[in-house]
Amino acid sequence: MTDLAGLVAAVREDIAPQIGTGRVADYIPALARVDPRHFGIAIATCDGGTAAAGDADLPFSIQSVSKVFTLTLALGRVGDALWRRVGREPSGSPFNSIVQLEREQGIPRNPLINAGALVVTDAILAGRRPEIAIAEILMYLRELADDPRVAVDREVAQSEAETGFRNASLANFIRSFGNIANPVASVLETYFNQCALAMTCRQLAHAGLFLANGGIDPVGGQRVVGPDEARRINAIMMTCGHYDASGDFAFRVGLPGKSGVGGGILAVAPRRASIAVWSPGLNASGNSLVGALALESLSRRTGWSVF
Ligand code: GLN
Repeated sequence: MTDLAGLVAAVREDIAPQIGTGRVADYIPALARVDPRHFGIAIATCDGGTAAAGDADLPFSIQSVSKVFTLTLALGRVGDALWRRVGREPSGSPFNSIVQLEREQGIPRNPLINAGALVVTDAILAGRRPEIAIAEILMYLRELADDPRVAVDREVAQSEAETGFRNASLANFIRSFGNIANPVASVLETYFNQCALAMTCRQLAHAGLFLANGGIDPVGGQRVVGPDEARRINAIMMTCGHYDASGDFAFRVGLPGKSGVGGGILAVAPRRASIAVWSPGLNASGNSLVGALALESLSRRTGWSVF
């Protein structure tokens, strides 16, 4: 039995000298003004344990961490048919890259880069109005986190829409290959709102716990996905969850993980725990610098690396 409180305190001590380093995302004002000195960590274990330290109860913009949950939701709805529309290979490219799409006929490399996430969001929309799909995604996260306070930050969603030229290009380009079925404007509106979900480390750790536990949330006992799906989602997080820095994250941390430009990372220690960290300063690949250091420390201290 791990001393969880001691663990999170030790991890926080390990990274304390680095707090505040990295560059906060500045493409929208709501993210640019976040204090880079925030640091939060929360752990939820498969046997019901929890521990948290730092700013673990402060909501932050989960951004691309949402891609794990929309992937889960879409797989639950359309099953393996999703893999006809999106691949499962690491891209080796930045999160918002367009270069591979032309050569690969509008089939994005994987569901955790922006191009792939837009296709996943299109699969969730499936003819619904964006506000319905957004409400469904929000409900899904509230259920997974078992917390009705999970919300969409409307200011972030609005700014994403005002500055989302690259995402609009990706969606239009994919649609030109016939791999987006709904109006591009609807796909973008839904995608910008899912990126704008605001959650705390504690909520995020609980929301990801089913991935550590063979697809079942051990707290409420409900099945979210089958065991094969959970295993596969973990594999995709491991190989693709940090874009062109996924190899480095596997090398250093050895856990399936998904990052977002808000500075959050969700990591899964299969059969053991779900861990959420938040530190807004990013490295050159757009992943949380101190967040990854914290997970590296946690992995070393626990031996939870899958390798
Ligand atoms: N909203 C961001 C975008 O789509 C999310 C990117 C990220 O978190 N890596 O560009």
